Amino acid sequence: MNRILLSAVRDFVFPSACACCGSAADDRRESADGVCSDCAGLLVPERCPRCPRCGRPLVSEIGMCAECRLRDPPSFDGAIALFRYGGLARGLLRSYKFGSARTAAPFVARLFAEGLSLLGETYGLGSGTFPALVPVPPRAGKLKEKGWDQMDAIARLLSRNHGCAVARCLRRLPSRSQKSLDRAGRLENMRSVMVCAGKPPESAVLIDDVVTTGATLDACARALKGSGCVSVWALALCWD
Ligand SMILES: [Zn+2]
Ligand SMILES: [Zn+2]
Repeated sequence: MNRILLSAVRDFVFPSACACCGSAADDRRESADGVCSDCAGLLVPERCPRCPRCGRPLVSEIGMCAECRLRDPPSFDGAIALFRYGGLARGLLRSYKFGSARTAAPFVARLFAEGLSLLGETYGLGSGTFPALVPVPPRAGKLKEKGWDQMDAIARLLSRNHGCAVARCLRRLPSRSQKSLDRAGRLENMRSVMVCAGKPPESAVLIDDVVTTGATLDACARALKGSGCVSVWALALCWD
């Protein structure tokens, strides 16, 4: 039996460890959700002033965050990132993204659903048709390695449980690693690998797990707009 199948079987048979803190959940409702009630109670997206460009909560700044003030404007129109990458959010993301905690998918999808209403309130997206969700495609090889696409799984749940439209129109071409590159290098590298393969929606919300430099979201928004998409927003679980 291969590694992916084994971990899926393990998740099914022993679904009780919390995907955030790793503790054993003590009732079926908690274990079915993959996250213990303590962690679930703490991981609530904050309604607070955020940087309109990168979506981080603002501490003492007014308007844009200090980092974004020094940068060129990104290709997307606005963004929200729900949690700082650390503590419980880090635990959740690591077990969902890098581990195999598929059982946490419904919990992660609920956080994204809250994020979408936050995004809607912040940017006035409530009236008319809500923008279509565009999952950021995984890097080449990740799908093979993990056996499933974590962001696509979230898009599927949001479509099924909340009626969100989903447009899977982005493709990520193979690229060299971003790790050794500086910010300008990352932007350029990413822009050459994200392509829009198909008709994009008129307005889109990119969904991704973590935003660091914003190069990935920028490249995605650029590819979408280059193919005719008019407005692009972004929603990420964490910022780092
Ligand atoms: Zn927990
Ligand atoms: Zn910012």
